[in-house]
Amino acid sequence: MVRLEKVRKSYTEKGRTVEALRPTTLTLEPGAFVAVVGPSGSGKTTLLSILGGMLAPESGRVWLENQSLYDLPLRQRTQIRRQRIGFVFQSFNLIPYLTALENVQTPLYLAGVAPAEQQRRAETLLRRLGLGDRLRHRPAQLSVGQQQRVSLARTLANDPALILADEPTGNLDPDTREHVLHLLESFRREGRTVVMVTHDPAAAARADRVLRLADGDIREAA
Ligand code: ADP
Ligand code: MG
Repeated sequence: MVRLEKVRKSYTEKGRTVEALRPTTLTLEPGAFVAVVGPSGSGKTTLLSILGGMLAPESGRVWLENQSLYDLPLRQRTQIRRQRIGFVFQSFNLIPYLTALENVQTPLYLAGVAPAEQQRRAETLLRRLGLGDRLRHRPAQLSVGQQQRVSLARTLANDPALILADEPTGNLDPDTREHVLHLLESFRREGRTVVMVTHDPAAAARADRVLRLADGDIREAA
């Protein structure tokens, strides 16, 4: 379970303060597929970064599986981020000189998994995502949709409890977009919590729950 407790974050720049996230209390159940929508500058990335253990709130607590993320020493928080949280980026962030297989192995390597096991798990995931015949290809040799699937396989590598996706369908053609949404839905069926920032109303409609951000305020959309 993921819980935000009175979490607040503002930025001050050149003497001006922006309330990026106003005090927010929120519980996300395991197996929830949550869409976050709202105009540019409304606080979506701030929310995702706080959930992902990457940005400390000014006040309040963030709980992931009964641990208060920002009360932990940095080293332990990094460990949790690597082991329990998966990120999906619009730009995929694949490493260009590594093969699909090696890209998916990277988080396992960082988590200290033995090489043979890294490869076995990465291969299983890529096959599950329909890329069994693309294991040794580099990102540039793959279509955009295939690159996104490699990035989703990498997200799953550590079996994360929480998946954070920032505009995961933004650059995709309709077929690939559908495929990605379908995969996110299947992650939720495995009991993972999926939080997806999106500008796409059709993608948001696939979620169980829609959170609408406006000027750092979160509202539950009906
Ligand atoms: P969104 O992802 O919805 O576009 P953000 O979370 O990126 O919104 O930003 C929310 C608000 O916080 C915006 O007004 C933005 O300009 C401001 N902001 C975000 N990051 C910083 C930063 N590092 N320094 C100063 N202001 C920031
Ligand atoms: Mg953003």
